[in-house]
Formats: sequence, structure tokens, C-alpha cells
Amino acid sequence: MHELSLAMSVVEYLQNLAKEQGMKRIDAVFLEVGELTHVDPRQLRESFKIASQGTVAEGSKVYVKRRLVCLKCTKCGRENKIELKDTITDYSLKCSFCGSTDVEIDKGRELLLKRVKGSK
Ligand SMILES: [Zn+2]
Repeated sequence: MHELSLAMSVVEYLQNLAKEQGMKRIDAVFLEVGELTHVDPRQLRESFKIASQGTVAEGSKVYVKRRLVCLKCTKCGRENKIELKDTITDYSLKCSFCGSTDVEIDKGRELLLKRVKGSK
């Protein structure tokens, strides 16, 4: 259900965008999802199909890219890119440069709409 509500907000955004820019149809949407959102790209595409029915975005292609988790070390200030394994407990929240565990999750929580292709 998580995916469906996300898809619905994306479609809502697309409808507004189409209206603003006078687009008759949305052809392709490029999304990026953070690993920590636990969004399944395949389910998101399926949900998009449902959510976009009867809208300008119906039939649009949906590309979903996974976005790596990024940790920002509060001690040395460097960024660590982390590839998530199966569960969140499988990786340690630790800076790989200085070993500090004082880190903030910088990226990986969000869903981004990177690009939209439409026709007028
Ligand atoms: Zn560090």
C-alpha cells in the first residue's frame, strides 16, 4: 500500500505539471527511490499503472532507479556511500574514513522525481 500512496502523489504532481505546461500526455517518468524507503521498484511501477488510469499519465513509461544510502560523518564531515543488504541491521552505521559512529543518514529516505517527458 505504501507504493500505491507514493504513486498517487506522483500522479497528482504530474497532473498539475501537465496542466501548467500544457502537456496532453506524459510519456515517461524517471524516479529515484532511496534504499531506506523500502520501496519495491516493480510494485511502484504496478501502482503507478493503477494510479494513473484516466489521467494524463496513463500509459506512461516509468523508470525507477535505486538510490544508495549516504551517510554523512559528523566528525570528519566525509560522505560514505553504503549499499544496503537485505535488512537495515546488516550494515553498520559507521564512517569508513575515521571509524566514528556519529553519522547522519543524508540520503536514502526520499523519493525523487528526476525527469518527466511529455507531449503537447
Ligand atoms: Zn568520519
